[in-house]
Amino acid sequence: MNIFITLDYEMFFGSKLGNLKTSIIKPTEQLLRVADKNNVKMTFFVDIGYVIKLKQYKVQHTALEEDYNLIAEQVKTLASYGHDVQLHIHPHWEDSSFDGSQWNMITHRYRLHDFSEDEIKDIIYRYKKALEELTGQKIFTYRAGGWCIQPFFKIKQALQDNELWLDSTLFNNGRAQGNTHSYNFKNMPKKSQYRFENDPLEEVKNGYFLEVPISSYKVSPLLYLKTYFFKKFGEKKYNIYGDGIGLSSGSLWDKLKILTYPIAMPVSIDGYKSTLLQKALDSFQNLHQEKEENFVIIGHNKLLSDFSLENLERFIQNNKVHNFTVYSNEFSNLKKEHGKKN
Ligand SMILES: [Zn+2]
Repeated sequence: MNIFITLDYEMFFGSKLGNLKTSIIKPTEQLLRVADKNNVKMTFFVDIGYVIKLKQYKVQHTALEEDYNLIAEQVKTLASYGHDVQLHIHPHWEDSSFDGSQWNMITHRYRLHDFSEDEIKDIIYRYKKALEELTGQKIFTYRAGGWCIQPFFKIKQALQDNELWLDSTLFNNGRAQGNTHSYNFKNMPKKSQYRFENDPLEEVKNGYFLEVPISSYKVSPLLYLKTYFFKKFGEKKYNIYGDGIGLSSGSLWDKLKILTYPIAMPVSIDGYKSTLLQKALDSFQNLHQEKEENFVIIGHNKLLSDFSLENLERFIQNNKVHNFTVYSNEFSNLKKEHGKKN
């Protein structure tokens, strides 16, 4: 079994962006300690839109120069240590700005789909190029911001033009419908990798794109109550590192659903959700018997805690029989094929 530990490397997008050191830099350092000690590599989906904005605004606002240097250095370090750095796009950075003392996050165009076709092409081109320049490596894997990859046909050509042929966004049965987020992954192929062409929910043999979905796990309402409880009353080790305020991802109806019956969730190392890692892997293995299956875990640097890192480390140590890996290593042969085609 291949196990991918993947992190969305980003700030908070709600009413408070958070402090860069607290929300990204330090949690990543903690995570790297676990990675180095246990000799595993991880994948970081970098929200490069933020880095681009820092670079742009640091010219007028020297206060941002330190932040830019910190994040640019850390991303370079991740790449040079053999971790995978891949592309994560939150296009609302296009509309957001820094006023000299704080960031004004404008999120009414939260999804790439909220932009025109030409704008989408421009954003994907510039963001990928900026990340390649920063890391000195070729980027070929994409994860949509907030899981908003549908309808796929609107972004397909731009991804293909930029040779972003591997996607790792979907999780089985994932659903959300709100002011900002919108996705529905019901009835997607129950496979841990497959080709597709125009719709990631539909397998197409020899399709241009390869989907390697995030693994999915059904969780009971109890998990959400526990998460809330530990956040509110738990000891310090349960506190997440990040200090911003996130966007709410679904409607009120979505939230009520979470509290009434089991719901599909991406397998995660964030906060209290990390307690389910082993259970999720065990149930995945019951369904997927073959050796060459991919178990993909997601996390957010900002949402990690001492507690979740303890759980992650235990999980790694208990599953050494498996192959902890990254996209660049596992799919490098396919990478060459795509290189030839284009
Ligand atoms: Zn994100």
